[in-house]
Amino acid sequence: MTYSFQCQCGQTLSVDAENDDEALDKLMDVGPDHMAAVHPNAPPMSDEEMKNMLRSGMKKGDM
Ligand SMILES: [Zn+2]
Repeated sequence: MTYSFQCQCGQTLSVDAENDDEALDKLMDVGPDHMAAVHPNAPPMSDEEMKNMLRSGMKKGDM
């Protein structure tokens, strides 16, 4: 199953995962990379904050 998260910048991060927990794990891998690559000036976010943001924003299914 594909999970996707649309960032506030409009880019979508997507990962393949079996369930919400796995999706969150994988998004936690790509999320910080996206932040570093696209939002280098954004205020630093703790793992917990990043997780909460991803969990509340991620959607199941293909775009
Ligand atoms: Zn972004």
